[in-house]
Amino acid sequence: MRIVRFSAGDEPAYGVLTGDLDDYGQPAEDAVIVGLAGDPLYVGIKLLDKEYRLDEVRLLAPVLPRSKVVGIGKNYAAHAAEMGGEVPREPLMFLKPNTSVIGPGDVVRYPAQSSEVHYEGELAVVIGRICRDVPVEQATDVIHGYTLANDVTARDLQRSDGQFTRAKGFDTFCPLGPWIETDLDPHDFSTGRRVQTHLNGEVVQDGSTADMVFDVPALIAHVSSVMTLLPGDVILTGTPEGVGPMRPGDEVEISIDGLGTLTNKVEAR
Ligand code: MG
Repeated sequence: MRIVRFSAGDEPAYGVLTGDLDDYGQPAEDAVIVGLAGDPLYVGIKLLDKEYRLDEVRLLAPVLPRSKVVGIGKNYAAHAAEMGGEVPREPLMFLKPNTSVIGPGDVVRYPAQSSEVHYEGELAVVIGRICRDVPVEQATDVIHGYTLANDVTARDLQRSDGQFTRAKGFDTFCPLGPWIETDLDPHDFSTGRRVQTHLNGEVVQDGSTADMVFDVPALIAHVSSVMTLLPGDVILTGTPEGVGPMRPGDEVEISIDGLGTLTNKVEAR
């Protein structure tokens, strides 16, 4: 099931996007959104007798993390190498504030403090229930679903600060969307789904989730051994190789097989 959060001109609402995706990961032309009563994270799936066409709504970030977005660094060996490092022995964690989250079609604002802002296309895991110390074997039970993320990073500030808070924490630095897919199994990612990033139509990242050093269950076990996870918290699972700069005026598209495409433009702040 694909869960969307959307605005039809009034209060944000939740819905289920019907139909299959086409070869480009886009919804079919006759796809509709069936309205939901409330946020399914908290009230479950309660379908309303209300339908919307995609062209009459604006999709929003499919989840607003109440407490945190947890990022994982260097979780693909080839990306660790291009960053001039090795794969960490344990998952390398950092936080992005929930105020960095924007939705599909929203604008990434290029901050004046940086002159090297990078895209990082990533698989994002949305947590479905409060949990801590989750064993690897039970990680699937706490997953609400999956979406796409751009872990936008001011690379120059990441280097000069020696830590990640400012570099990854600017407002608009965490595009999420376009929807949450609830029907996939972590195994689908371990066996490999293609992760691609296009910058102005050119392929700049082309990886596979099979190349993650620590898989989704391992990441959930690790993160939850440190901090309690709440419904709506998001874990970014790391980016494949090919990170690079984007500039005001650029358009970035992140896609993963079966999860659609997340598109955002960059503009000066
Ligand atoms: Mg990242």
